[in-house]
This record gives sequence, structure tokens and C-alpha cells, in this order.
Amino acid sequence: MKKKNLYERYVSGEVNQELSDDERREIMRGYYQECDRIREIRRTWPYKEQLIFTGTRIKIIPAPEPPTSPSFPEILRGLTCGAKNRKGQPCKRIDLWGNGRCKFHGGMSTGPKTEEGKRKVALNARRKTVNYF
Ligand SMILES: [Zn+2]
Repeated sequence: MKKKNLYERYVSGEVNQELSDDERREIMRGYYQECDRIREIRRTWPYKEQLIFTGTRIKIIPAPEPPTSPSFPEILRGLTCGAKNRKGQPCKRIDLWGNGRCKFHGGMSTGPKTEEGKRKVALNARRKTVNYF
């Protein structure tokens, strides 16, 4: 059986002890991973409603509902970035990305890395310019 991560253990109520901020950040990463997984399931949901003709009437059988995204874990409210800033104090920002850090401490994209990615970005920029004129 797959080992549960901290988020899954938290959701199933197995985590009783007081959690450190690092552990809460781990839960946050697990939460966003789970949201991504659910989003992918919803995107590729194969079921559609069915129409059945019963002679004179059309009966509609609704498709089964796809799973919904989990709600935001209460324990993550008020979580701060916590990265050490230039003064040596923990960062107090609470606008965090999925990795549990703020935009100044590891949240933002660092841009395309692969040749293919760089090509795509260049193409997008050109496309915007063309639309502009
Ligand atoms: Zn920060």
C-alpha cells in the first residue's frame, strides 16, 4: 500500500500532535497536489448524461458527479512564509504559493528552462506583438 503523506494523514484525522510550521507547509504542498489531481480527474471526466427514449418521452439520466476539490485545511490559515529574510528574521507574508512560500522566497516561476519552453515563450511574445498592431 502507498504510504500516506502528511496531508492525507491530516485529512483522515491521524494527526493529533501540534504541528510545526514546516509540517504545515508540507500539508499545504499535499493539499495543492490533491487539488491538481482532482482538477485533472474533472478535466478528463468521461461520463455524460444519457437520453433514453421511452416511446413518447425522453428520459434524461444525469451523469455521475465528478469528485470536487477538497476544502482548504483550517490548520493552514494564518500560515506565514517563514523564510529567513535579510534581517535574519522569518518572513511574515501570508500570501503563499503552493510550495508554502511567498513570491519573494521561492514561489514565483523562474522562467523557461528547456529549449522547447524558451521557444514557446518567444512565440507567445511574437504573437502578442502581432495582435497589437
Ligand atoms: Zn517570504
